[in-house]
Amino acid sequence: MAWGVLESYREFLPVGEDTPMITLGEGNTPLVRSYRLAEEIGCPELYFKLEGCNPTGSFKDRGMVLAVAKAMEAGSRGIICASTGNTSASAAAYGARVGLPATVLVPQGDIAFGKLAQTQAHGARILAIDGNFDKALSLVRTITERQPLTLVNSVNRVRLEGQKTAAFEIVDRLQDAPDLLCIPVGNAGNITSYWKGFNEYKAAGKSQSLPRMMGFQAQGAAPLVEGRPVASPETVASAIRIGSPASWQGAINARDESGGAIDSVTDEEIMDAYRLLSTGEGIFCEPASAASVAGIIKLHQQGMDLRNRRVVCVITGSGLKDPELAVSVISTGVKEVSSDLEEVEAALLEFAA
Ligand SMILES: *Cc1c(COP(=O)(O)O)cnc(C)c1O
Repeated sequence: MAWGVLESYREFLPVGEDTPMITLGEGNTPLVRSYRLAEEIGCPELYFKLEGCNPTGSFKDRGMVLAVAKAMEAGSRGIICASTGNTSASAAAYGARVGLPATVLVPQGDIAFGKLAQTQAHGARILAIDGNFDKALSLVRTITERQPLTLVNSVNRVRLEGQKTAAFEIVDRLQDAPDLLCIPVGNAGNITSYWKGFNEYKAAGKSQSLPRMMGFQAQGAAPLVEGRPVASPETVASAIRIGSPASWQGAINARDESGGAIDSVTDEEIMDAYRLLSTGEGIFCEPASAASVAGIIKLHQQGMDLRNRRVVCVITGSGLKDPELAVSVISTGVKEVSSDLEEVEAALLEFAA
């Protein structure tokens, strides 16, 4: 059995004799069926693609493993990226794995603590800039023109090649493409990758159909919906707090060629979906990931008939990235008691009451 996305999907990826087949066990993530939400929105065939199950807790690993392998193949001396957190965690991990120094630029005070902790744990060099993600990305783009470092943001097209393997897995599992693919959109690399993946798989005879691509941005960071860049993007969903998506055209193509849509969801809708997933489905994701689920709920509320539709919502990252946020919005509290049996039992009965 193949191990990791490079080996599993080698024939669809730009890998050759000289590409090191590195892996941290990324890919092959669960596609689980919804119980609760499926019922609520009348969509019996609703699935969640759990990308938080990747080694560093987000889908970024699929693209990073290939970007780092290609950097090694090219004899690179180090990798660098701008990040809202997950790209840096992934770059740091794969850099550590192969001994390539990783440098990351992040917006100061604006990334989830778990992501910062991961990045530090893997020994990356972190520069927290006084500016947002868009600024950080423009800086690393210029820096890599001047320094011998490999840029591993999704402007590195190799990243997008790796990320398309998630679409392959969905088709492998369902034996065809779904009718709708709901996905959060930030820098728009992932929606671009999925669309490429579905098309390549269909061309290879692995599926009969293509999905409609349904992208969802946060309302305060929705440049693709508004049709122009947003100077100061604002949303609780930090992983999609991006005002000027690098893969703008890719997202528009995915939308138009698939007969899909890119819409926005409010922070309130995102947090409602986040809570529903964790308390009603047993799925702990980060807020940005919940945008895909907020999106399908919105489509249902707008009257879309989902009865005979097969729908996949991409759950892009793990809730453990930001545990403080979780307890601040869903806290059921922690009751302190003595270790006395009577007292513990009394407290227990109080819960039940
Ligand atoms: C990066 C990321 C996104 C956004 O993906 P893009 O390719 O930038 O559109 C969404 N959710 C999570 C958890 C992410 O890490």
